[in-house]
Amino acid sequence: MDYLHLDDLLNEEQRMIRDMVRQFVDREIMPIIGEYWLKGEFPMHLVPRMAELGLFGPTFEEEYGGQGLDYLSYGIIMRELERGDSGIRSFASVQSSLAMYSIYRFGSEDQKRKYLPRMARGELLGCFGLTEPDAGSDPGSMRTVARREGDTWVLHGTKMWITNGSVADVAVVWAKDAEGVIRGFLVEKGTPGFSTQDIHTKISLRASVTSELILDEVRVPEAQRLPHAEGLRAPLTVLNHGRYGVAWGALGAAEAALDEAIAYARERIQFGRPIASFQIIQQRLVDMLARLTGVQAIGYRVAQLMNEGKARYTHISLFKRQATRVALDVARAAREVLGANGITVEYHALRHAVNLESTLTYEGTYDIHTLILGRDITGFEAFS
Ligand SMILES: Cc1cc2nc3c(=O)[nH]c(=O)nc-3n(C[C@H](O)[C@H](O)[C@H](O)COP(=O)(O)OP(=O)(O)OC[C@H]3O[C@@H](n4cnc5c(N)ncnc54)[C@H](O)[C@@H]3O)c2cc1C
Repeated sequence: MDYLHLDDLLNEEQRMIRDMVRQFVDREIMPIIGEYWLKGEFPMHLVPRMAELGLFGPTFEEEYGGQGLDYLSYGIIMRELERGDSGIRSFASVQSSLAMYSIYRFGSEDQKRKYLPRMARGELLGCFGLTEPDAGSDPGSMRTVARREGDTWVLHGTKMWITNGSVADVAVVWAKDAEGVIRGFLVEKGTPGFSTQDIHTKISLRASVTSELILDEVRVPEAQRLPHAEGLRAPLTVLNHGRYGVAWGALGAAEAALDEAIAYARERIQFGRPIASFQIIQQRLVDMLARLTGVQAIGYRVAQLMNEGKARYTHISLFKRQATRVALDVARAAREVLGANGITVEYHALRHAVNLESTLTYEGTYDIHTLILGRDITGFEAFS
């Protein structure tokens, strides 16, 4: 549902990208996603196709495997992917915005040339390890350490809730050095002491790999440290970039849920009439439409600011906070319109709603973005 015709603002190239990703989702994701979600598996066979469509690192320059796309195009890609499933979008987001972007922004020229083109081609998968069992919203309290021994760093600690953790060929791992300064390291799969353990008890984002990363005295050379990352600002900069895509993705899930609810309400007959003809159902659908339209408009404006280099991290916080909250509410309300059918994976609203519980929490919870915005407009910090 695009009630204000915001997609009329897309140029021809952006429209082509939208249609291409939408077609991919309709043809290759929708027929299988319910089954994969129930099995709790990510459909790995889609990775080469996603790479072929240019969905990994599309905003980077061609020399790094990208297509130099603008941020509205990037947002549209994320929106269309999450129209399918938040897990599919998360895969692309983590590959592009967290793993590749960490290397792009903070890596050496050698690291960029070694990893980025192969990651864009889907030959190498990446993950981003910041969160720990005891350090979530407060990543500055992380316990993972990096000890320097000559030209080698020794990493020790545990990362938790890491998307694509066990399937990644290269993990971006954040750790504190002896002085307490947070630094980023590229840890390749198979490095002695580095292991992963998948989390199989999720009720949300089931079609996505989520893992624990265990670093037991893992030795990596200085050449695997991201040379331009120093302090917590580095991972937070990467997350800011990532959550722009998370917010766009939430719009896609909400649009899909609303469209499904409207179509269902028009067909479903009770008391001799389509349920869409009852005032309560109409009010529910219109509330969903009104709230969704508000966050779609925020998305387009933030995309413009991103393209002009004027987006502040607080603008992205506002977009992420609103989009994920509204999408969750819309998807849940859509499920209600679908009645009992709504609790199955043959329909999509509830799958989206429970997925959106994760998007509300990761890359800064709803509350944390409230505190970021509160600090911005009042000048007072209320984090602790
Ligand atoms: C499916 C999934 C995938 C993920 N993927 C990744 C990944 O790839 N890489 C990665 O590094 N991390 C990842 N995460 C972790 C995610 O970023 C964290 O879950 C998130 O930062 C919140 O941390 P927490 O879960 O420890 O919650 P906590 O920080 O413990 O928060 C618990 C509750 O307390 C609230 N709270 C915390 N502090 C405050 C405060 N100061 N004031 C008011 N309320 C507060 C929170 O808003 C929340 O409601 C993922 C999480 C999920 C669920």
